[in-house]
Amino acid sequence: MIKIQNLSKIYDNSKRPLVAIDSINLDIDKGDIFGIVGLSGAGKSTLVRCINRIEKPSSGSIIINGVDMAELEGKALRQARYAIGMVFQNFNLFNSKTVYENVAFPLKVKGMDKNTIHQHVMDLLEKVELMDKKDVHPMRLSGGQKQRVGIARALAGNPSVLLCDEATSALDPKTTDQILTLLKRINKELGVTLIVITHEMDVVKSICNKVAILENGCIIESGETVDVFTHQ
Ligand code: ADP
Ligand code: ADP
Repeated sequence: MIKIQNLSKIYDNSKRPLVAIDSINLDIDKGDIFGIVGLSGAGKSTLVRCINRIEKPSSGSIIINGVDMAELEGKALRQARYAIGMVFQNFNLFNSKTVYENVAFPLKVKGMDKNTIHQHVMDLLEKVELMDKKDVHPMRLSGGQKQRVGIARALAGNPSVLLCDEATSALDPKTTDQILTLLKRINKELGVTLIVITHEMDVVKSICNKVAILENGCIIESGETVDVFTHQ
């Protein structure tokens, strides 16, 4: 479903070019919860920015649902991006909007009519168990509640994949568990593929069926999580 082939990203904005992603290959199947782990500087953020195409890869391809994201520009890229829902470490919510409005926002941008938006937002808020907070502003929510809004918003465009970028790194252990349980449920019930980018091994061990270890821009090991971690 997602095929990353010979993907490289070289930053050449300084005197010496820096290879942040070095010809990596990844196969992610539909329904996977695929972990990508690595220490700080390994290239995780660069990989995220290449997959959602905030950055253009230097070479290689990122094929999602048969479309090569690396090649796209302009309107075609904006369209293809709907396949990817983003969940961020710092939630990236609009503080001036209510929970309802935050989740409705991407649907409004898409030009969906108000009734359809309303139905959809209510469904999503029910899924993340935040119906009672729909009129509240993010400032009055706990970290875990904010991330549930982030997840509902990420799901709003009916993506086939959720790209979770350090989604639990700002949360305490108990809240982390609750968010991981929610992500697992979404994967199971909606069939959404999850890519979980993290520096936390425990997160991978807890929910990922497959994992790739990123080091200095290279995948040094990948496979079923049980196999990869019994080798350590
Ligand atoms: P991680 O997210 O795993 O900490 P990054 O992708 O942020 O890793 O960084 C990988 C490497 O690329 C690092 O050496 C970092 O300094 C470098 N890097 C990241 N972003 C840029 C950029 N915009 N320009 C130049 N170098 C960058
Ligand atoms: P606009 O600014 O384009 O008029 P709004 O976002 O203010 O759109 O509201 C659009 C519709 O979304 C409203 O008519 C209402 O049905 C619904 N809506 C907005 N906020 C809420 C909310 N907090 N709870 C329930 N429904 C809401």
